[in-house]
Amino acid sequence: MFTKSSIPSLFKRYAAPMDPLPYQVAANVFPMRVNNHVAGDLIDWSNVPDDPIFQLAFPQPGMLMPNDLATMSKAAGLGMSKAGLQHLAEEIRAKMNPHPANQKTENVPRIGEETFAGMQHKYRETVLFFPSEGQYCHAFCTYCFRWAQFTSVGSSQTFKSSNGLQLRDYLLQNPQVKDVLFTGGDPMVMPPQVLRSYLEPLYAGPNAPKTLDTIRIGSKSLAWWPYKYTTDPDAKQTLSLFEEVVKSGKQLAFQAHFSHPRELEHPAAQAAVRNIRMTGAQIRGQAPLIRHVNDDSNIWRKMWNLQTRLGIVPYYMFVERDTGASHYWNVPLGRAHKIFNEAYRGIAGTARTVRGPSMSASPGKVGVIGVEMIAGEKVFALQFWQARDPSWMGRIFFATYDPEATWLSDLKPAFGESEFFFEPRYRELVKMAKDKASGQIIE
Ligand SMILES: *Cc1c(COP(=O)(O)O)cnc(C)c1O
Repeated sequence: MFTKSSIPSLFKRYAAPMDPLPYQVAANVFPMRVNNHVAGDLIDWSNVPDDPIFQLAFPQPGMLMPNDLATMSKAAGLGMSKAGLQHLAEEIRAKMNPHPANQKTENVPRIGEETFAGMQHKYRETVLFFPSEGQYCHAFCTYCFRWAQFTSVGSSQTFKSSNGLQLRDYLLQNPQVKDVLFTGGDPMVMPPQVLRSYLEPLYAGPNAPKTLDTIRIGSKSLAWWPYKYTTDPDAKQTLSLFEEVVKSGKQLAFQAHFSHPRELEHPAAQAAVRNIRMTGAQIRGQAPLIRHVNDDSNIWRKMWNLQTRLGIVPYYMFVERDTGASHYWNVPLGRAHKIFNEAYRGIAGTARTVRGPSMSASPGKVGVIGVEMIAGEKVFALQFWQARDPSWMGRIFFATYDPEATWLSDLKPAFGESEFFFEPRYRELVKMAKDKASGQIIE
């Protein structure tokens, strides 16, 4: 396991031609965790710093604003104390919207006065669950939208629960929920017996919620640590747990995070995919579109083709959220749509299960489905793929084309309208939540 203190020795070992200091400074502000699989097998060190997996795993100096980088480099060079550097890092983080779309406070389910920590219930049919032992990852992605929770200060505020029975009880009282998504961090850092303690109440025994169809696990482990499903001492136990869930009659599905085809070209990743699929579990592939990592339609076409060949269902291409170093990673919506479309055109129908680019914004998941000329105006055609108000689901709406726009909040309604169709109701939902008149909290 490598963290920021290993940067000089890693650069030396792999003969990286860069000065390590700016990288150490970046890793002081952003979390860093790299393992042998990533450093030794996935990164192409002959191509650093441009190599996409290097960009994905090592915090980059460009993630800091030039003045912040200069201030911190100077402080580190002058031998500032650890506490002083920590304080400086915290000031820089605070300027970077560390909790986008109100990760920490919004959508926390309630029954009466009781709030359910470590759960989010935003879309009617799906509950997110954050098991407390799963709130870190095998390695960290530099662009992670939950980056702040992996810093030393953020970790104390981590959104998490260790109460699997509370999750089951919430599902028993909310039969409209068909789908639970375990997320983190990465739930697949948990050993099988801990994972079992969360999953078992949901599928085994007379009290398991009969209305629940699917248990999903959001995970980067197939890319960052595929040995979890192959040669780790407890790999067999993990796989037999999956098999048990499937045999109970519920669907077990991975939302697997793949950013680049190289992650899946590795033989260990392919063996892991085969072993998981042999248990009857499904795997879907998703990732954000990220400048410096995968902002090229050839990369996505190759990735979706390879996923399809391996039996992974291509699912979402996301838009990078407006948090952290988004100035370094973001791709404007117009360009994102072009990259998506160029890749989508070149794949077989069996791979066209994928949707994107998709923004996980506060009103819902909004897809950019087209850039068109309509009645003489160049517009984005947008569609709700998930919606805070279920009546918005699937609805199409239009925004004036803006080549610079990177997020829903940058967009203006097309055709001279004063607001988007959902805005009056959205304001009402926000107000109801503030007045605590609804079961949701939106801040
Ligand atoms: C993306 C997301 C989900 C899952 O959406 P699917 O379209 O079902 O994959 C659930 N809850 C929240 C808050 C999300 O952002």
